[in-house]
Amino acid sequence: MRKYLLSAFAVCAAFAACAQGPRPGFEEKTVYKGDDLEIRQIDEHTWHGNGHVMANEAIYIIEGEERAIVLDAGTEIKDYDKIIAQITSKPVTLIATHVHPDHTGSAVNYFDEIYINAGDMVNVEAMMGDYKGEIKYLVDGQVFDLGGREIEVIFTPGHTPGSTTFMDKAAGYGFSGDAFGSGNLLLTTNWSTLLITCQRTLEYMKKHNITKLYPGHYMGRNCETQQRVADMMQMSRDVLDGKLAGEKNTQGMMGLNTVLSMHGVRINYADSALK
Ligand SMILES: [Zn+2]
Ligand SMILES: [Zn+2]
Repeated sequence: MRKYLLSAFAVCAAFAACAQGPRPGFEEKTVYKGDDLEIRQIDEHTWHGNGHVMANEAIYIIEGEERAIVLDAGTEIKDYDKIIAQITSKPVTLIATHVHPDHTGSAVNYFDEIYINAGDMVNVEAMMGDYKGEIKYLVDGQVFDLGGREIEVIFTPGHTPGSTTFMDKAAGYGFSGDAFGSGNLLLTTNWSTLLITCQRTLEYMKKHNITKLYPGHYMGRNCETQQRVADMMQMSRDVLDGKLAGEKNTQGMMGLNTVLSMHGVRINYADSALK
């Protein structure tokens, strides 16, 4: 799987530069640099980390007054729990944006429990099979109250059946894992799923004035925007209506043998996704 993902990201590393930096007034700075992870502070109580194994796989630390969320665990991060403790002194909850080896890698084992979307149980045996802790399930619409900061759970299937986005309405941003951006691979799902996810997410972003989504492979400037979600929604609709078709991708892996490129978005999919 890892080999597959590495290749897939190499093939589709069309990460759009949407010129989105950190929040105005806060200078993003590196606060930790180790062998497996580099962490940057993106605002007063939010940090972003990059692993170095699979296309800058991202982790995020989202802190409230009483507790913090650790979003994703990278591929291989030695002493991840100790690194996190250097960043926040609050008790942490580990949550996965989805179950893939670059987001729920070996470092999940530093935590007694992990929250995932039950839709990704299909991946657990193959990709998180040696996890000894307790797997808990996210609920669509549930809110994690961190103390003065609330993070809402929005199910956004498409990349995987259990891909999930986490919204901070007060901050005006969210964290989308690989649901948007990050190479746009439709793995075991289809265009109808992506269409509904885009419709729902765009509606939410407009209603709550969410201007950007930090993706699962964040490189400093490649946040997803309302426009990008709208573009993906239109592409999904046009593919389903037969107005658009991708090109065969000879390097496609895991059956993702077609790629559709438009508006700076590349969506990789299998023939079986055409429904
Ligand atoms: Zn990923
Ligand atoms: Zn993924």
